[in-house]
Amino acid sequence: MFFLSLVLLPAAVQAEWFNGAEDIMGTQISVELWQDDPTLAQIAIDAVMAEMRAVNQSMSPYIESSELYQINQHAAKQPVVISAELFALIQKSLYYSKLSNGAFDISFASVGRFYDYRKAELPAEQQLADMLPAINYHLIELNPTAKTIRFHHPQLNIDLGGIAKGFAVDKAISRLKSLGVESAIVSAGGDSRILGDRRGNPWVVGIKHPRKDDGFVVRIPLVNSAISTSGDYERFFIKANERIHHIINPTTGKSAAAVQSVSILAPLAVDSDALSTTVFVLGVKKGLALINRFNGIDAIIIDADGRLHYSDDLLRATQS
Ligand code: ADP
Ligand code: MG
Repeated sequence: MFFLSLVLLPAAVQAEWFNGAEDIMGTQISVELWQDDPTLAQIAIDAVMAEMRAVNQSMSPYIESSELYQINQHAAKQPVVISAELFALIQKSLYYSKLSNGAFDISFASVGRFYDYRKAELPAEQQLADMLPAINYHLIELNPTAKTIRFHHPQLNIDLGGIAKGFAVDKAISRLKSLGVESAIVSAGGDSRILGDRRGNPWVVGIKHPRKDDGFVVRIPLVNSAISTSGDYERFFIKANERIHHIINPTTGKSAAAVQSVSILAPLAVDSDALSTTVFVLGVKKGLALINRFNGIDAIIIDADGRLHYSDDLLRATQS
């Protein structure tokens, strides 16, 4: 009897949830996954963090050795050769610029880099006026044959803060899949993607109340989906009664003020991330019109007065 139970023990190991969390890319990265082997679980968690670190090393606007930093240093003077991965992500960014008529624009950084939300600093009016013409995605040229990028304005700067976290989350989920993980959630700040379900149930993701630190406005059941939230409460300071936050309207170079929060549901996090920033700038009417053009993409918007708005498919779901 004693021997029998010893032999059977390894086969009876219980699967369970494993968690990991780390600060990378200026935000909290978290992963939760279902595994029966603790060693494999740790390998999977480490792989997620490694993907996040790699994206940060290549796309951080602050790390001097990053590809993005080098682009900002040199692309106004000459074409800069970049990796296929970064090329594709900038291409996708330009796609969202065209789609939104410039509401999403990675060259927002031409002005955006003069904001410091921690130090409560913003560009002076003259500086803003001088730099505003450099926010213009038409002045970013990609050459698909040579895999180069070139800026056609001396002050132009780019920043992938509106899309890179979603991109990194997708890469992490791909790694988990290739390691055989079937149920997991990976989050990078406000960008999350869910792989599979939660042991026969949906995952439930809460959308934060934009003006209450620990309150939720709605809870959404999700399976195999990404969700991104852009809020004016993430990085901000108040000056002369005005909320100065990190989502910039490319037309004005100032914080977009039409809404308080936008959440986007989409199959991939790269798309939900870019679209949450885009719809935040577009506001309720134009934002919903854009989202309603797509099958399988949905939006939940909290407007400037705190009222909730849903895209058509979600509206039908909440009413049925
Ligand atoms: P976060 O998860 O950092 O809150 P969001 O998805 O809400 O990210 O996007 C905000 C970030 O997007 C900003 O910190 C900035 O890096 C970038 N960004 C701000 N305005 C724009 C814009 N108009 N177009 C593209 N990216 C933007
Ligand atoms: Mg976003």
